[in-house]
Amino acid sequence: MKIICIGRNYVNHAKEMNSPIPEVPMFFMKPDTAILPKKNPFFYPNFTKELHYECELVVRINKVGKNISAKFADQYYDEIGLGIDFTARDLQRKCKEKGHPWEIAKGFDHSAPMGNRFLPVKNLDLNQLEFKLKKNGEIVQHGNSKDMIFSINKLIEYVSQFMTLKIGDLLFTGTPEGVGEVQIGDHLEGFIGDEQLLSLNVK
Ligand code: MG
Repeated sequence: MKIICIGRNYVNHAKEMNSPIPEVPMFFMKPDTAILPKKNPFFYPNFTKELHYECELVVRINKVGKNISAKFADQYYDEIGLGIDFTARDLQRKCKEKGHPWEIAKGFDHSAPMGNRFLPVKNLDLNQLEFKLKKNGEIVQHGNSKDMIFSINKLIEYVSQFMTLKIGDLLFTGTPEGVGEVQIGDHLEGFIGDEQLLSLNVK
């Protein structure tokens, strides 16, 4: 199982990071050890002093595919959920400066916690799916899939040119603006529409 994460898929997030708006999707990977086992606490890692949340819609692939065209990409998933692409921003900044890969900043253990369940897509409008993240009860990120630069189906088309998608693979589709720091003691809650899917304490 692999975790594919899209970077800079929302214009306002690219702007807040002072990053250019991509002309083609940009992606990186997290290992399967990035998943936080259910009911495990999330511990603030000791190698960073600037841990950021990035709340993202997550698609779970349910069929093996390669060179999938966007037109047929919706046949390769039927559920969508919510995840946090935790990022050690201080380490990421150093990696970027040196032109190094990002894995230490993005792929560490438990850097991809997810909601406790996924929602069937058949009852949802994926072209305008609203989601939000609350930190300590206040909304810090409020996204809508309509603001994605590249749609879910376009992302699947792009990624599957390079690597075979397999059952159970997860696609983190990028974060909207409003990313920020968490501290020990913070409580994060994630919602698709009004439905709460994610709840996490930083220990
Ligand atoms: Mg992200």
